[in-house]
Amino acid sequence: MPKQIRDLLRAEVHDGRFRLAEVDPAATPGLKKPKRALKDVPKHQATLFKLQEKLYAEHKRALLIVLQGMDTSGKDGTITHVIGHLNPQSVQITPFKQPTPEERRHGFLWRIRRRLPDAGIVGIFNRSHYEDVLVVRVHDLAPLNVIERRYDLINRFEKQVTSQRTKIVKICLHISYDEQRNRLTERLKDPDKQWKFSEHDIDERAYWDDYQSAYSIAITRCSMKYAPWYVVPANNKDYRNWAVARILIETLKEMNPQYPHPRLDVPRLLKRLQP
Ligand code: AMP
Ligand code: MG
Repeated sequence: MPKQIRDLLRAEVHDGRFRLAEVDPAATPGLKKPKRALKDVPKHQATLFKLQEKLYAEHKRALLIVLQGMDTSGKDGTITHVIGHLNPQSVQITPFKQPTPEERRHGFLWRIRRRLPDAGIVGIFNRSHYEDVLVVRVHDLAPLNVIERRYDLINRFEKQVTSQRTKIVKICLHISYDEQRNRLTERLKDPDKQWKFSEHDIDERAYWDDYQSAYSIAITRCSMKYAPWYVVPANNKDYRNWAVARILIETLKEMNPQYPHPRLDVPRLLKRLQP
């Protein structure tokens, strides 16, 4: 058993910068034999399920997972294959798309605040407030001085959320430019996957380097001890699922949720249950 996968995948800022380009999207840190990932899956699912049940039973704290990544990086797949094995009653999944007219009338964190998980819940953001410093930066959808202010606003917001007993884990699924091409090609060629294909993804692909740089800036500016970024190499889908599951297990173990111990007069109650 490797020590902590989180220590291998946590984004580290060196000389004031984090560079996404320095992370190999095809690597499998912590796993010497990537095939092992599949073998570990049932064990991880059972562990995660139990930890999540404790968080729910304890009903004091929440876990928020922020999932980001380029188109086809596997955000949906991760939700299906990792989050899909949790108890759906205590999971809240929110995809963030282009803001609606109503959302646009408010600050960029408004729609995010409304979807924060309550006590006991595991919240998943499929995209998030980071879009407002990623796609918005790449396409100049807001003035640069507005975007520049957002990093601090995000840090302050996340600090506030954390102080309200919600643990934040931010995960960037990192694929290569070539792997994205493979996945888009696969979507185009497979009639069962064509529904996922959007020509817009080809347009966005032209901005690959700008996105990589926007991610590097966001991770540099918003990697806090209280809300760390993990960069998961995601060319290998089995590794990606394995690594995300491990990050969640390690985080939940550290949170160490406890079943509440109601003061029950068990003998008396058992007696009442007699036929
Ligand atoms: P998908 O996740 O593939 O369904 O696509 C959602 C789209 O919404 C992506 O192209 C995102 O970049 C876009 N999106 C999400 N949040 C924002 C935002 N705040 N501003 C502009 N576009 C956004
Ligand atoms: Mg898409």
